Amino acid sequence: MTTAAFVRAYPPSSKPPGEEAIWFLYRGQEMLVELGAGGVSPPRGGDAMIADLSARGAPLYLGRFNGVPCMAVDMDEAAPIPADLRAMGLRALFGKVPADLYSIAGYAFEMLYWQRSSSFCAFCGGPAAPSLNEWSKRCERCGHIAYPRVSPCVIVLIHDGDRVLLSHKPGWGPMHSVIAGFVEPGESLEECLAREALEEVGLEVDDIRYFGSQPWPYPHQLMVGFFARYRGGEIRIDTNELDAADWFHVDNLPQIPGPLSIARQLLDTWTASRRPEKGRG
Ligand SMILES: [Zn+2]
Repeated sequence: MTTAAFVRAYPPSSKPPGEEAIWFLYRGQEMLVELGAGGVSPPRGGDAMIADLSARGAPLYLGRFNGVPCMAVDMDEAAPIPADLRAMGLRALFGKVPADLYSIAGYAFEMLYWQRSSSFCAFCGGPAAPSLNEWSKRCERCGHIAYPRVSPCVIVLIHDGDRVLLSHKPGWGPMHSVIAGFVEPGESLEECLAREALEEVGLEVDDIRYFGSQPWPYPHQLMVGFFARYRGGEIRIDTNELDAADWFHVDNLPQIPGPLSIARQLLDTWTASRRPEKGRG
């Protein structure tokens, strides 16, 4: 999930007037997209694009994608949808919008979420105004500075030879996935991983290896992926989180998450690492 073609605007600034932009127009959880011959994409155009949309709060200039300004706009949820656009949930757009644009769409959603949820100071309730030199808001009464939120979440593939631990949550249908959990205050990623493995499925792990990370803008997670080797314990699930967990053989996996998710990337990488060995044996 790289966005090499996207350069973030820093410090925060405004789009040069009159310049065409790619518009990330949100209406609650939904983004407005064009369904063109080339697929699904956010609309591109001049400032007239948003003239008739009822925007809540100032449009945010996020940066440039291949040189084109990218703008995030929070629309009134009751605002009518222009005839040439369609509203689709951000999750539903995963895999439909090109990956680099989807990354920016996620960034746009997280920033608008922050803009919406930071109008007042969390300490004193005073009005908060955007800072000029960074993405933050400063309370006009007590001076408290609030930043956009990012919530780290560890996601871990626990393996044991040719077996992998997969869990199931209510509502997932036939899909199973690796386990994940939020990092708590005062906790390292490794401590979080060990705690989640023990809490969610009752297992102890070792040989923790970092895999990679993925922003998960629902609304502001950062998934941090690891592999870990099973060390001991019997599966005992946390029924507040899961309704099942079990070991699955590499050649007999159930339905797993879609190809772009870090959960799937972990599983694909692990599967590829087991199968050549099996072929040689
Ligand atoms: Zn305050």
